[in-house]
Amino acid sequence: MSDRRKFMKQSVLGSAALLAGTRSFARSASLPEQTTGKPIVISTWDFGKAANAAAWEILKTGGRALDAVEKGVMVPEADPENQSVGLGGRPDRDGHVTLDACIMDENAKCGAVAGLEQIVHAISVARKVMEKTPHVMLVGDGALQFAMEQGFKKENLLTEKSKEEWHEWLKKSQYHPVRNIENRGRPGDSGNHDTIGMVALDAKGNMSGACTTSGMAYKLHGRVGDSPIIGAGLYVDNEIGAATSTGVGEEVIRIVGSHLVVELMRQGLNPEQACRQAVERIVKKNPEGAKEFQVGFLALKRNGEYGAFALQKGFSYAVRSGDTEKIVDAPSYYP
Ligand code: ASP
Repeated sequence: MSDRRKFMKQSVLGSAALLAGTRSFARSASLPEQTTGKPIVISTWDFGKAANAAAWEILKTGGRALDAVEKGVMVPEADPENQSVGLGGRPDRDGHVTLDACIMDENAKCGAVAGLEQIVHAISVARKVMEKTPHVMLVGDGALQFAMEQGFKKENLLTEKSKEEWHEWLKKSQYHPVRNIENRGRPGDSGNHDTIGMVALDAKGNMSGACTTSGMAYKLHGRVGDSPIIGAGLYVDNEIGAATSTGVGEEVIRIVGSHLVVELMRQGLNPEQACRQAVERIVKKNPEGAKEFQVGFLALKRNGEYGAFALQKGFSYAVRSGDTEKIVDAPSYYP
C-alpha cells in the first residue's frame, strides 16, 4: 500500500468517522477526425447534454463562448440529483460539501475557487474572481467572503440523499476513490462520476472553458483536486484549442493534464491523439495504479475538431453544434 493510501486510510479511520452516435472503442481504436465547425460546445459525461443545451442558447445567436460555458455548467450545479457538482454534491469525510471550479476565456484570463462552501454556482464566483479581482484563485473562507460581497446567497448544499449516503459511508469510513464511469444500466457499475468540464467555440471563433465539481466524495477536508487548477482541470489557448478533464484529480495535476493536451495539439496532434498521449503519460508515471482509477480528457481545436480519450472504458461526452446533438463514448486505454 502506498504511503499516501496508508495516510488516507489511517486519517479516514481515525476521523469521527441519445442518443445516436454512441460508440465504444478499445485501446487501439482511433476515431476519424471529427469536425462540425463553429459554433460548437462539448462537455463531460451524459449530463453534459442538458448543460450543452443551455450553452447552445447563447452560442446559436452569436453569443460569447465565455457566457455559454458559464450558463451551461450552471445546469448541473443547480441540479440536486447530480451528486458530483454543486447543490447535492457528495460531502467530504466531515460532511462539508466543498466546491472547486474554474473558468478561462479567449484572452487567457481566468478565475477559480476551491473549497467553496454554501454557494451553488461556484462557476459564477470563479468568473467574478476573474473579472473583479487582480487574482486568479480564492479558496475556502476567503472565497465565501468574496462571494457574499458579490451578492451570492448562502445555501445548504447537503441534500438529504447525499447526507444519508455519507452517514452510511461513515459506518466503515473507507476512502476508495471510485472508478468513475457512465452507467447506462450496466450491472455492477455505480455510474458514480464527477465534474462537468465544458469547452466551447463561438461564432466569432473565440474559445472558453469552464470546469466545476464537488470533487471526490469523502475526501479529506481541505483537499483540492484538478478541477479548479488552471492547466490541470481546464486550459484554453485561443490560438490552438481547449481541453478539460475528469477523474482522479491528483493524477491529472501530476501531469498538468489539460495544458499538456493543448500543447500536444499545438504540436499538430488532433484532439483525440492529444488526449490519448496525456492518458499514456499518466500510465507511464504510474503503471500499476493506473489500472485502478479513471481519468478522461476532452479537447476541442479552434477549427471545431474535437475528441476525447480515457484511461478506463465508460467515459462519455456530449456534443452540440448546428447539426449535431449527441453523446459519444470515448475510446479508452484499457478496453
Ligand atoms: N476531477 C475531480 C476531482 O479530482 C473529480 C472527478 O472528475 O471525478 O476532484
